[in-house]
Amino acid sequence: MTIAATLGYPRVGPRRELKTALESFWAGTTTEADLLASAAALRAGARAVQQGAGIQHVPSGDFALYDHVLETACALGAIPDGYGWSGDGPASIATMFALARGARGSAAEQAAGIPSTALALEMTKWFDTNYHYLVPRLSGATRFRLLHNRWADAVREGLAHGTRTRPVLLGPVSFLLLSKGDDGTRPLDLLPALLPVYAEVLRGIAEAGAAWVQIDEPCLVTDLPAGADAAYRQAFAALAGAAPGLNLLLTTYFEGLRDNLPLAASLPVAGLHIDLVRAPGQLQAVLDAVPANLWLSLGVVDGRNIWRTDLRRALGLLTTAAAGGRAKRLMVASSCSLLHVPHSLKLETGLDLALACRLAFANEKLAEIAVLARGLDEGEAAISAALKESDSIVAAARADVRLHDEATAKRLAAVTPAMEQRTTPYATRAAAQARRLSLPVLPITTIGSFPQTAEIRALRAGLARQTITQEGHDAEMERLTAEAVAWQDEIGVDVPVHGEFERNDMVKYFGEQLSGYAFTKHGWVQSYGSRCVAPPIIWADVSRPAPMTVRWAAFAQSLTTRPMKGMLTGPVTMLQWSFVRTDIPRETVCRQIALAIRDEVADLEAAGIPIVQIDEPAFREGLPLRQADRQNYLRWAVACFRLSAAVVRDETQIHTHMCYSEFNDIIADIAAMDADVISIETARSDMDLLGAFEGFAYPNEVGPGVWDIHSPRVPTAEEMAALLRRATARIDASRLWVNPDCGLKTRGWPEVKLAMGNLVAAARQVRAELAA
Ligand code: GLN
Ligand code: ZN
Repeated sequence: MTIAATLGYPRVGPRRELKTALESFWAGTTTEADLLASAAALRAGARAVQQGAGIQHVPSGDFALYDHVLETACALGAIPDGYGWSGDGPASIATMFALARGARGSAAEQAAGIPSTALALEMTKWFDTNYHYLVPRLSGATRFRLLHNRWADAVREGLAHGTRTRPVLLGPVSFLLLSKGDDGTRPLDLLPALLPVYAEVLRGIAEAGAAWVQIDEPCLVTDLPAGADAAYRQAFAALAGAAPGLNLLLTTYFEGLRDNLPLAASLPVAGLHIDLVRAPGQLQAVLDAVPANLWLSLGVVDGRNIWRTDLRRALGLLTTAAAGGRAKRLMVASSCSLLHVPHSLKLETGLDLALACRLAFANEKLAEIAVLARGLDEGEAAISAALKESDSIVAAARADVRLHDEATAKRLAAVTPAMEQRTTPYATRAAAQARRLSLPVLPITTIGSFPQTAEIRALRAGLARQTITQEGHDAEMERLTAEAVAWQDEIGVDVPVHGEFERNDMVKYFGEQLSGYAFTKHGWVQSYGSRCVAPPIIWADVSRPAPMTVRWAAFAQSLTTRPMKGMLTGPVTMLQWSFVRTDIPRETVCRQIALAIRDEVADLEAAGIPIVQIDEPAFREGLPLRQADRQNYLRWAVACFRLSAAVVRDETQIHTHMCYSEFNDIIADIAAMDADVISIETARSDMDLLGAFEGFAYPNEVGPGVWDIHSPRVPTAEEMAALLRRATARIDASRLWVNPDCGLKTRGWPEVKLAMGNLVAAARQVRAELAA
């Protein structure tokens, strides 16, 4: 019998229950027991929904309070010193949250022995998704040992509720490859010390009563570093014998296996999962390569996008796989964990009906997986109604004239290379901008947003519920903007911003004003910790009916003589943080957005805004996982950014901003974007990232973030000055800016005021040192 399976399920809860539980715990209004009870209820709900939908391999251990990589590190004893962990026994919840968020000097932390200076671990994007994981820090001093078999516990928890689950374990090689080594430690070298702990985990899982364990090795779809091949062989040789009777399912996702296929096919496991959504073409090669007695788990239902599965097409792939005697050892699954899609379409009542019919969120995908498994076992006829429905939806989508806009197509066809090119080179522009802006050395700015307070949320809610009028809402937004501008003037921010108070979200705000977009009400997807985003859906051609931000930027500029920075979200990020239609190439969708942003840039310039920032925080995350695919992506992504920016005159300064970006491998392309100024995340990595800019001799200006705003800790002026000094040692001060490393919308005003005060003091201090 074909097994219906998922690789993981959303954690936040249909109504973001996890967010509520975490935030009230952090605020001190609930206890640890309350938090754990909420988490257990979410897990119980997830098991019930999946089992109820006909999923036979229900995942467990995929849940995490903050992040599964962090929980894995904590369970395996990979906890650096300085977080209050005594060295034996499980890590406390205070230790785990300090690793995730940095210390905030609370009483609970003090009680747990966590110094108030403890910094959060580095956070980075999970492969090419918008989920962020915490990067485990390993060193020669790391002593792996099993502190807490969270996977065995998860199995027992499921069984106690009548569900035999399949625990999900981040595999040892991917765990090490995703970690960072301190003091010259190469994480992969720690494999021999790590394997006995993994073996113990597996024994515990088997004893708890699981028949299968899912071992995620997503790194198998990437270009492997030297030594990884041997590491995989060594690891799986050790794990294969660890718990007799426990079946190991090796899972790969987000890409095809390509040149790693022979390696994956040779590992001693009971089953292999492959992603047939991203890489349907790999099926035949996989069938040819794997031994006949291996279980194959076929990821045919998209875990990364919200479109319904073309069931007939998927069944075709499955039928191919079932030929040649393999039928008895197949699983039908989501391509990857469903973590990356929202919970359920049921809550969405406001969507265009024709569009809603084409969508499937996590729960709807469960039904697709189950029906496909049934179709494979019982034949097409058994699922003919579902196939017919799927066919008619595919046909209706193809025939929907609303998808195509002729004016947009014409404009796209008329784009010339000159439209992607500023009129003069950076040096010439920089001189014109210097004359216009007359900024001091180390100019101070922020990334754009200021705190989104309860007051602002209430205003937005009031507008939605029509308890206040649009005029009333806008007047309040103007008041907040005016206050923010006055405060920036007062403390000495050289390039102020309007504060983005009127924006709910940096993608949604624009999407709502563009045609071609649709929005969900509850389509939340976890980004990091308690932070969720509800990605818009790009379902038709994108165009801009009217200016989107000019009124706010112009209002803010009218209040100050300092040069106001207008804020826009760039085309690549607009694309990357949306669920995108699949009937035309992503590149085409991105170019459509670029034209819309270009119009906005032109309008801002015409309204007298001297600086425009086009945020591209998702630029790097769009990078294909494989080197071989990157050049093509970078070609069109850079071109789209340039198309959106290159409309302005020399004296108008273009900024861009990126967060959590490792630039070493793409610095030439970042330079090719040709923004006059780029601000980046560097505070958490101690200015490490600047090495890339220095080594490449990055030609334009850089604002390395000196305040890690993803942590609630307020840095001192001295700390920020120290970071600035390190930056001036690597990049000429004449090309450096001073700014936080991201927008401040998630922070509170008290900490923003303190930290910005310190930031201004740090800039002044270092300016004085430079002058001396
Ligand atoms: N301008 C945006 C803000 O300040 C940028 C956010 C981001 O990079 N994620 O919020
Ligand atoms: Zn940012």
